[in-house]
Amino acid sequence: MFRNFLGGIHPKDGKELAKAQPIEAMPLPSEVVIPMSQHIGAPCTPTVKVGDMVKRGQVIGTSEAFMHADIHASLSGKVTKIDVFPHSGRISCQAVVIESDGQDAWLEGLPLHRDWEKMEKEEILDAIRSAGIVGMGGATFPAHIKLKPSKSVDVLIINGAECEPYLTADYRLMLEEPQRIVTGTRILARILGVKETYIGIEDNKPDAIAALETACEGTGIQVAPLKTKYPQGAEKMLIYAISGREVPCGGLPMDVGAVVQNAGTVAAIADAVVEGLPLTERVTTVSGDAVKHPKNLRIRIGTRYRDVIDYCGGFGEQPDKLLAGGPMMGFAQFSLDVPVMKGSSGILGLTKNITAHGRERACIRCGRCVKACPMGLVPSMLSILGERQAYARARDDYGVMNCIECGSCTFVCPAKRNIVQYIRLTKGELRAEMAREKAKAAKEQGAKK
Ligand code: SF4
Ligand code: SF4
Repeated sequence: MFRNFLGGIHPKDGKELAKAQPIEAMPLPSEVVIPMSQHIGAPCTPTVKVGDMVKRGQVIGTSEAFMHADIHASLSGKVTKIDVFPHSGRISCQAVVIESDGQDAWLEGLPLHRDWEKMEKEEILDAIRSAGIVGMGGATFPAHIKLKPSKSVDVLIINGAECEPYLTADYRLMLEEPQRIVTGTRILARILGVKETYIGIEDNKPDAIAALETACEGTGIQVAPLKTKYPQGAEKMLIYAISGREVPCGGLPMDVGAVVQNAGTVAAIADAVVEGLPLTERVTTVSGDAVKHPKNLRIRIGTRYRDVIDYCGGFGEQPDKLLAGGPMMGFAQFSLDVPVMKGSSGILGLTKNITAHGRERACIRCGRCVKACPMGLVPSMLSILGERQAYARARDDYGVMNCIECGSCTFVCPAKRNIVQYIRLTKGELRAEMAREKAKAAKEQGAKK
């Protein structure tokens, strides 16, 4: 049985460009630019200064804030600069530049080779926290926080859907290194104490399903084939497809007893717990019709896009769009100087043949966006209200905050309306207003004291 959810779309997946390319370790770059913000939560503050010599795996950024993940040097060398640099998700951010010494030396004592089955639960959680692991599917939520849910959970779901077009990094990881994923999954199942554990994989990856079924034998982990449909990998859709449970509006997976982690994240968790290795590299798909030789690369965090694209033979054709992530939920980039981060699932270069969008017109009320929306929203109204700056009405009458920004509505719209862009604008304005009100209330409270 293939599991499914309501709504969704079937975009051309473009995966044929990179899916046959085995994971390849990209040569060590001469320099890395490591951003101090690579997770949801407070940015880190550098713990090193210019001139310091660092080893791979050494902490170079941390924060006092609860919601953060430590940041580590991804190679050994000298800190040459600490400054503001371009960032793929937030325009710019403070970053630490490390010039490689060519030695690629790990911090003393790493790797460790521990027997995780003999480790205490708190010791395991501390290993995950110390390694700076975040959700590597793009969400970048600190893993050690997600793994301490404040409600009881009984289902663990590993997200191997990889439903974004063009991306094949998780597919290659599942196919080539299933044992790392199974070890990480078993570690998580143990610390969460769940009754059921699933690895959800879309049915367009039958060889990855077979590899994981073999690797899961005797572990109690079930591989759950999913219908190939975008956005099957969105947390709420995945939970519904596998467990039949609906995460309430504004709620979290733990509200229905579930925890979801990405396949790449659990592989990194296995390395962190068993080997004591911090997150210093990741597998990223470099693809798109503008890239000469699409690849799946194991890349050091902080490697500039420019170096990555050069390693793939450069652009064969002029890209119209450079994207961080997939074409549906990724972010357009305007510089090749942005670095690869913990959440960089893909780097795409797409020509006009793919991106040509046409002129935006008025809504013709065809209802296609409503049918495609996996969250049961009315995207046509949300776009109109966003255009008219009627943000409060979009929130109160049409539930805009429940939008997962999957872009399905924009994809199907025959009037070429930039629906998801209007929605992002609306949500941004509403969040800014909430922050202003919070600051005002805090100020008034302070004045009363
Ligand atoms: S309204 Fe939001 S959740 Fe619905 S299809 Fe559009 S982007 Fe996706
Ligand atoms: S798909 Fe486009 S044209 Fe059709 S109802 Fe939605 S916004 Fe309007």
